Amino acid sequence: MNIRDTVTAYTEELITLRRDFHAYPELGFQEFRTAEVVEQYLQALGLETVRCAGTGVTAVLEGRRPSPVLLLRADMDALPLQEENTFSYASKHHGVMHACGHDAHMAMMLVTAKILCQMRESMEGTVKFVFQPNEEIAGAEAMIEQVVLERPRADAAMGLHIWTPLPSGSIGIKAGAVTASMDVFSVRITGKGGHTGYPESAVDPVIAAADVVQSVQRIQTRLISPMKSTVIMFGKIQGGTKNNIIPDEVVLEGTIRYLYAASPDQNPTEQFRSLVSKVCSLHRCSCSVHIEHENDAVVNSSMMASLANDAAKEIVGEDQVVEHASMACEDFSAFADRVPSVFAFIGTAREEAHSTYPHHNPRFTIDEQTLSTGVEFLVSGALKFFQRNS
Ligand SMILES: [Zn+2]
Ligand SMILES: [Zn+2]
Repeated sequence: MNIRDTVTAYTEELITLRRDFHAYPELGFQEFRTAEVVEQYLQALGLETVRCAGTGVTAVLEGRRPSPVLLLRADMDALPLQEENTFSYASKHHGVMHACGHDAHMAMMLVTAKILCQMRESMEGTVKFVFQPNEEIAGAEAMIEQVVLERPRADAAMGLHIWTPLPSGSIGIKAGAVTASMDVFSVRITGKGGHTGYPESAVDPVIAAADVVQSVQRIQTRLISPMKSTVIMFGKIQGGTKNNIIPDEVVLEGTIRYLYAASPDQNPTEQFRSLVSKVCSLHRCSCSVHIEHENDAVVNSSMMASLANDAAKEIVGEDQVVEHASMACEDFSAFADRVPSVFAFIGTAREEAHSTYPHHNPRFTIDEQTLSTGVEFLVSGALKFFQRNS
């Protein structure tokens, strides 16, 4: 069976599925309608579905042989954002939008399931389809562990993201880290309030905060190897009530992202913690630093990346397969931390399709012609995995 011809036959169905998910977006762990659509589609293929973590859906397709087991994952959640597109299928849920492309991922995965069901007699292994809720808030760790390691245990995993930073017709793949590890911080700097005409009788947290913002930028240029991508950003600074009052307190919030696994001597988060407290004490301020780890980096195994690379070359041609990594986060890391995995980026930016807006933008959309690229990639990646590992 020629994969391209088979996928091409489902172009309309892919678009219809994607537009339906797009019109009815749901936030993380509230993907109630979404989960039902997914279940009904899989059940119509003769697959048994199992719910996990509320709105998560899994199904297992056993081929000619039960092993090896490849897990394919699609995420389901939308974002709290008011859509500004005016398509007929624009979001019908006020303030909620599929602005990351997870609608496309589900459509691609469902059609992949349909095609692999047709190929099951020649499939030398088992595919486990995982539709995962709440990707944007990385809240699905416990469900992922259950899903990856049991009934049946996965030997490897594949995932993808439709991606406007890459042009339509290209696929981004790379061995090693492809999305960032992220820690979210909140720093509360406390001084002593007073009159801006008498700074000597107060302890100014504003200048301490300014120094913190500047000083921590030394972490990625002096304390961490410049060969290791690290970015420390402040998204929120809050303090003070009036122009002539020195406030008691300033609060800084932001993210620390890095494209590698931290080690004891190359750990930007620990260096951040230590530098912030030194800078604050220099300014006679006290500080409390609260840091939460949100995601690990997604690290592609070289075996899975090479297999995906071969699949991609056959689909889009060698010169359209690019090495690509992103400082965005992905909780696919929860899979990649446990089994050899690959996470690929399906380019979807095309001027004529208006699909050049960044992810999470209210005008975000995709080039629907690239939906079939994603399906071809998943089907061909799965078949290659079985050929090489059975
Ligand atoms: Zn997103
Ligand atoms: Zn996403």
